[in-house]
Amino acid sequence: MIVPRPALTLWERLYLPAIINGFTVTLRHFFRKKVTMLYPEEKWTMPEGYRGAPYLVKDQEGRTKCVACQLCEFVCPPKAIRITPPGPALNPATGNIEKIPKEFQIDMLRCIFCGLCQEVCPEEAIFLMRDYSFTGLSRAEMVFNMQMLLALGGVRPDKIEKWKHK
Ligand code: SF4
Ligand code: SF4
Repeated sequence: MIVPRPALTLWERLYLPAIINGFTVTLRHFFRKKVTMLYPEEKWTMPEGYRGAPYLVKDQEGRTKCVACQLCEFVCPPKAIRITPPGPALNPATGNIEKIPKEFQIDMLRCIFCGLCQEVCPEEAIFLMRDYSFTGLSRAEMVFNMQMLLALGGVRPDKIEKWKHK
């Protein structure tokens, strides 16, 4: 079946109305409220409880809450967490009450922001924060070490008083 192409009218052949229509639409959008976000300078503010990147937190005294139990490492589906336990040596600052990991790494390229690490942590030491976007120039840069994770997580005051009973 051949569909006949209708001939253009004189009005259509002028093209001017189409151009004017186009400019009118552009002009209308020009004065509308801007919705484009200037990412990455601007980012969404995510609501409380949003599952973003996992960070380690300190207690109100500025002490690392993580006790290197390795539950989060065990449960992490993509194996993004790697913990180096402190070993049997006694920590002079904390006695033998609780351990602190020698190293704690999270590979943010592997993390799927599932929140299982936060769910299982018996010490409430790891939380998924609101950060949802990271950039880096290399894969190695995206492996966050303990210092970075603690700095990003900050302090989370709570009622844990285990350190008082040395
Ligand atoms: S949020 Fe999920 S994937 Fe990411 S580190 Fe925690 S358990 Fe692993
Ligand atoms: S973050 Fe929590 S679950 Fe993971 S090793 Fe530390 S105390 Fe254990």
